[in-house]
Parts: sequence; C-alpha cells; structure tokens
Amino acid sequence: MLPEITKLIQLQERDQRIRLLQKELKDIPKHEAAAKAQLAGDLASVEAATLKGKEIEVKIKSVELDIQTRQNSIKRLHDQQFETRKNDEFQALGVEIQRYENDVRSLEDKELEFMEELETAKLVLKDAQAKLAQTQSRVNDELNVLTERFAGVRTRLAEEEAERKTQAAPIDSTVMDLYTRLFSKKPDAAVVPCSHGICGGCHMKVIMGTIQQLRADEVVTQCESCGRILYLVE
Ligand SMILES: [Zn+2]
Repeated sequence: MLPEITKLIQLQERDQRIRLLQKELKDIPKHEAAAKAQLAGDLASVEAATLKGKEIEVKIKSVELDIQTRQNSIKRLHDQQFETRKNDEFQALGVEIQRYENDVRSLEDKELEFMEELETAKLVLKDAQAKLAQTQSRVNDELNVLTERFAGVRTRLAEEEAERKTQAAPIDSTVMDLYTRLFSKKPDAAVVPCSHGICGGCHMKVIMGTIQQLRADEVVTQCESCGRILYLVE
C-alpha cells in the first residue's frame, strides 16, 4: 500500500472522530431546548391557577363593596326612621331596610361561596407549584449534565484537532487536497477498501483498469463511480 494511503486512513479515523464530536456539540443546544420545553406545561398550570385565584379575589372584593354600600344605606334609613314622627313613613322605611338586609344576606352567602372557591384555587395552585418545582429540579439536573458534556466534548475536540494538524502535516499536498474535498462531500469516508472488485463506498463494481492500477500500487487510485480513494483488500 502507498505510504500516503496508510497515512490517509489514519487521518480519516481521526476525522471521523472529529466529525462525531462536532455533531455531538451541535446537538447539545437541541437537547437543552428539549429539557426546558418540559417546563412549559407546568408553568402554564401555575399561571392558570394564579389567574383563577386573582379572579375570585376580585369577585370577593366586589361583593364586599356591595355589602358595604347596602349597610351604609341601612344605617342611613335607620337614621331617617329615628328622625321621623310619621308612623307610615317609619313603616315604609322599615320595608326598605328589610329589603336591603335580605340583599346583604344573599350577598354574604355569595361571598362565602367565593371564599370556598378561593380555598380550592389555592390548593390547586399549591399542587401546580409543587409539580413545577419537581420538574424544574429534574430539568436543572439534565441541564447540568449537558453543560458538563458540552465542556468535555469541546476539550476532546480541541485535542483531536491539534493532533490532526501534526498528523496531516507530512501528507503530500495534492493527495491531501483530494482527500479533503472528498471527505467534506461524503458522509462516511473518503478512503475506502476495494474488495472483490467492489468499491467499499458506493458498492459498485470497479473496472479492470482500476484493479490493475491498485495492484501496481504506484498512484492514488479513485473509484470511477463515486470518486472515493481506494485501497486493495484481496
Ligand atoms: Zn465508489
């Protein structure tokens, strides 16, 4: 085998490792986004429960205000009753007071209902917050693992790339250019075995002339179908 081919095969093994590390590095942000996406549902539940509680609180305040208004009216009517000397006016005021007192009672019943609803809403919120905290903690763990992995992969990648430079330096520049061009285009390999007359890259049968050239072992030989650099395995 040509010494350049041996060197290329070794370089290619490193380039394949580099390619995997680069892919891993590129995929980490996607994993991070997926981890964070797990929070969306729980966050929405907390938001919905918070909103529900606030809505009920507004209703309670409104009912309380209505009660207060009626109690003021009742007080005013009592004052008028106290001041009047006419019996029929006194009784008419009494009827009105009765009406307001009935109003107050039904408003107080409503307020009690809202209070119970608020208690339930608070429990729902508490559950939603607990679930969110649990998910958040799991997501944080996942994110920490991913951050560590990212740092590890980046270090390994830097080491591989530095060593690659040393390894590639002695390779003939024309061969190197050809290899680089092929490796960037092929997802698997630029240098492949040719076994039983079949190219290990595209799996096509190579022509006799190519086999003869490989046997002569004098020049870099490419598959005439896919262009990959071949070496003979018989
Ligand atoms: Zn081929």
